Amino acid sequence: NRLTVELGERSYEIVIGDSLLQHVPELLAEAGVVSTSKLMIITDEHVAARYLEPLRDALRAAGYDATASIVEAGEQSKSLAVYERLMTEAIQAGLDRKSAILALGGGVVGDLAGFVAATFMRGIDFVQLPTTLLAHDSSVGGKVAINHPLGKNLIGAFHQPRVVIYDTKALHTLPKREVAAGFAEVIKHALISDASFADWLEENAARLWELDSALLGKAIEKGCAVKAAIVSADETEQGQRALLNLGHTFGHAFEALSAYSTLNHGEAIAIGMCIAAKVAERIGFAKSGVYDRTKHLLSLYHLPTAWPKGLLPQEVLDAMKRDKKTVGGKLALVLPRAIGQAEIVKNVDEQLILTV
Ligand code: NAD
Ligand code: ZN
Repeated sequence: NRLTVELGERSYEIVIGDSLLQHVPELLAEAGVVSTSKLMIITDEHVAARYLEPLRDALRAAGYDATASIVEAGEQSKSLAVYERLMTEAIQAGLDRKSAILALGGGVVGDLAGFVAATFMRGIDFVQLPTTLLAHDSSVGGKVAINHPLGKNLIGAFHQPRVVIYDTKALHTLPKREVAAGFAEVIKHALISDASFADWLEENAARLWELDSALLGKAIEKGCAVKAAIVSADETEQGQRALLNLGHTFGHAFEALSAYSTLNHGEAIAIGMCIAAKVAERIGFAKSGVYDRTKHLLSLYHLPTAWPKGLLPQEVLDAMKRDKKTVGGKLALVLPRAIGQAEIVKNVDEQLILTV
């Protein structure tokens, strides 16, 4: 499957398929990444153990000279310290303006390596080789970032990849909990803009959960296409793009209050999408049935749908107001109107949210 993402004057391709990692050299050449300058692969320890050597061998055989840097797995690697270390390694390895950085891994590696690429010598080529399902989301939109001790993604840039090469086979070694988290974002993309995609995800849930490669390729392509359409219609993030936050205002609060430990991002937004649907029904914005279908669809992908144990409604509401996407302390929620259609609703009654 191939998909072209058009953003401003630049466009790039997302190529999706089974066992694509071995074809990286041809796809790089096709995207104009030349073999005359050194490449740098940035990956994490879990991914490196499985996929780094085969990738390096394929690159070497095609005449590419690639150095590799391995970071610890996990969000803590999106740090200034790791960023500095990677910059040092890039300079020492002799990368130049024509070099490219290859991000082999999930969203953490993509964000980190992308920020290195965005800033090394004021920006060099960047290629994404996603190995998680969630990375379908981070591979579109060009946002790259690292964290500051005072907040997530506070240091970043917009830097579009030259090409995204998505090997669906790599997803087979991903822990199932991470697979589910990735599906939460795929489902979100369906819920905000494509009812027939939601039907399809419902009908094919069993085979998708088993990572059937043809279906998975289609799910990733659709998910990327929805995000690309929204992002390219709204590069400055004023209107449409906010729809991508369905479930996220609640979800970020759950994540923050569970100290990023008990719930991962996908699980938190799954619960958030359920609550958004319930709020929407309660205020008469959505017809009844939207909540039940949202909940059913998420549960088919083994995602949680119930209020997280131990959290108090009032503390969640307070955390929602602190979220960086709220403006002036007023809550603007993305609510579903129907399956496949969502809108931003301002000034939802706080007491009603607490009741729901
Ligand atoms: P991740 O990159 O941490 O990967 C999850 C875990 O799976 C890690 O332990 C990793 O080592 C392991 N892993 C990855 N691929 C594997 C494979 N094929 N087999 C076995 N193990 C594998 O997490 P993620 O969920 O992919 O990404 C989360 C990050 O993405 C967050 O930092 C978030 O901020 C970012 N993000 C960015 C954007 C964006 O637009 N830039 C969008 C969404 C999320
Ligand atoms: Zn998200």
